[in-house]
Amino acid sequence: MTSPEEVAGYVSPYPYVQRLQDRMDEILDRQVPNSGRFCGFCFARLAGDTERCPYCRTETADLATVESVPREALLIYRAKKRTEERWVYGGAMLGLLIAAGVFVALVVYGTDLVGSRSIALGIAFLALIGGGYVLAQLFGPLICGQVGYRRGSRKRDELWAAFLEKRGSEDGG
Ligand SMILES: [Zn+2]
Repeated sequence: MTSPEEVAGYVSPYPYVQRLQDRMDEILDRQVPNSGRFCGFCFARLAGDTERCPYCRTETADLATVESVPREALLIYRAKKRTEERWVYGGAMLGLLIAAGVFVALVVYGTDLVGSRSIALGIAFLALIGGGYVLAQLFGPLICGQVGYRRGSRKRDELWAAFLEKRGSEDGG
């Protein structure tokens, strides 16, 4: 038994799928080619002499290896990647909007607060640029990214479960 790996408060029912996400992202980003020798069950890339998949522990003698990751499997991993990216971008945008709101407020009311128009504008631009960066990071990867990670992982695992079910019924005849 592989111990469940918990990331961002989400425990995947398929630890090997969770571990394979980065490998599949590399293929999706075309950093590595989708060709070689892959596990016939989970599609992990295997070294030439590996006889037991280090991810799902399937023996290559029991299930023949394949030469590429099927498109259907890649789409499952892409669903997680896309969902997470949407949340990160959305959160970063929210952070920038908040910084822009603070900028406008400082431009409008800042002079009354600090007594000098130029100092108020200086603070306003600092808030826009520095605050925009900090808030985009905070709401993007740190806050919304966690939500996106959980939602994307859950979606991916549901798709993988459906994939296994479909493959099982096909193999069963
Ligand atoms: Zn495998």
